Amino acid sequence: MNMKEYIDEAEAALLHTYNRYQIVWDRGDGMYLYDIEGKKYLDFVAGIAVFALGYNNKAYNDALKAQIDKVIHTSNYYYNIPAIEAAKKLKRISGMDRVFFTNSGAEAVEGALKAARKYAFLREGHTDHEMIAMNHSFHGRTMGALSVTGNPHYREAFEPLIGNVKFADFNDFESVQAQVTDKTCAIIFETVQGEGGIYPATETFMKQVRALCDERDILLILDEIQCGMGRTGTMFAWQKYDVKPDIMTSAKAIGCGVPVGAFLMSEKVAQQSLTSGDHGTTYGGNPLACTAISKVIDLFEEQQILTNVNETGTYLYKKLDELTAKYDCIKAHRGAGLMQGLECDMPVNGIINRAIEKGLLLINAGTNIIRFIPPLIVSKAEVDSMMEIVDACFADEQREK
Ligand SMILES: *Cc1c(COP(=O)(O)O)cnc(C)c1O
Repeated sequence: MNMKEYIDEAEAALLHTYNRYQIVWDRGDGMYLYDIEGKKYLDFVAGIAVFALGYNNKAYNDALKAQIDKVIHTSNYYYNIPAIEAAKKLKRISGMDRVFFTNSGAEAVEGALKAARKYAFLREGHTDHEMIAMNHSFHGRTMGALSVTGNPHYREAFEPLIGNVKFADFNDFESVQAQVTDKTCAIIFETVQGEGGIYPATETFMKQVRALCDERDILLILDEIQCGMGRTGTMFAWQKYDVKPDIMTSAKAIGCGVPVGAFLMSEKVAQQSLTSGDHGTTYGGNPLACTAISKVIDLFEEQQILTNVNETGTYLYKKLDELTAKYDCIKAHRGAGLMQGLECDMPVNGIINRAIEKGLLLINAGTNIIRFIPPLIVSKAEVDSMMEIVDACFADEQREK
């Protein structure tokens, strides 16, 4: 079958929840993906900030294959070595104390919300607590995660969601303070807002929220699903701020393609929240998934991924700044490490489609923002190749306007 025939079959069988680009993938290698007609694409999307180590990483593939030949799944009623290893390593790189493995980001958020509610319930002996989330946030599509997602368009048709969620403005401490009551049990936000348009938390905001949480025994939940795992130049984005969360969520790049997630917490919260029978998952923490996490953490260290994120991220920042100065339609440039965004005064789907035409994958974050979230192994030369194409796309767009 050719590409068009595969796409027709997909559209006849799959639920229409995505407007997909008209590409059917065959395989990947390093920074490149190949479609079934053999066309090669430079990838600055990484399966949405997932494939940090690049495609077809031999050491990663070999580790997974070896585990497949041993055992793929057992159950959380027993112990398995990959889960023990992965939990130890996650604790080490995050400085958090306890880990619960999930299968996705949204599930990690669900667990974090449950832990926060249970903590408040145990402290006060009653339910009916409130949480504060941010406008323009994104935490996932399940009912709990959706309840704290600050995009009314995603939530509207699914109300009533979990109640008692109030929204404040990200990086606006007064707006957070205005939502605090005696019932507030948690404040949740992304350390760098991803889908909402690549907005890093300011140092002041982080510190003020942390102080508020300490003062009132409110739990600070940081969602590191997109911005974590090295993406902004530290293992977790919050580690740059001298501020530690009570609970954090992780997913996307910690598995580098195997569907996994985790929520982690401090010992204090662990001792006073979820306990036997409160939470569970059939697949979460299975040997195959945890082999992926464990190997990814090893490879991050062996391949000095953070060094590359900082060096190449700085280079990308300079290049995107130059582009911002060159084109009037680019209004702002934000981000850190290899998580950057260009905000335009127009919808960016035109630019993205032109890039795809020229063999470059880019993705938006909202209508007007182009997001740059390549595999974390990207080199300066690949940034140069990308910039050449993006520059040409903006030039074409300007000419044809
Ligand atoms: C992707 C994402 C999620 C949801 O993760 P899924 O694995 O798609 O459920 C949650 N929070 C943030 C910040 C994300 O980027």
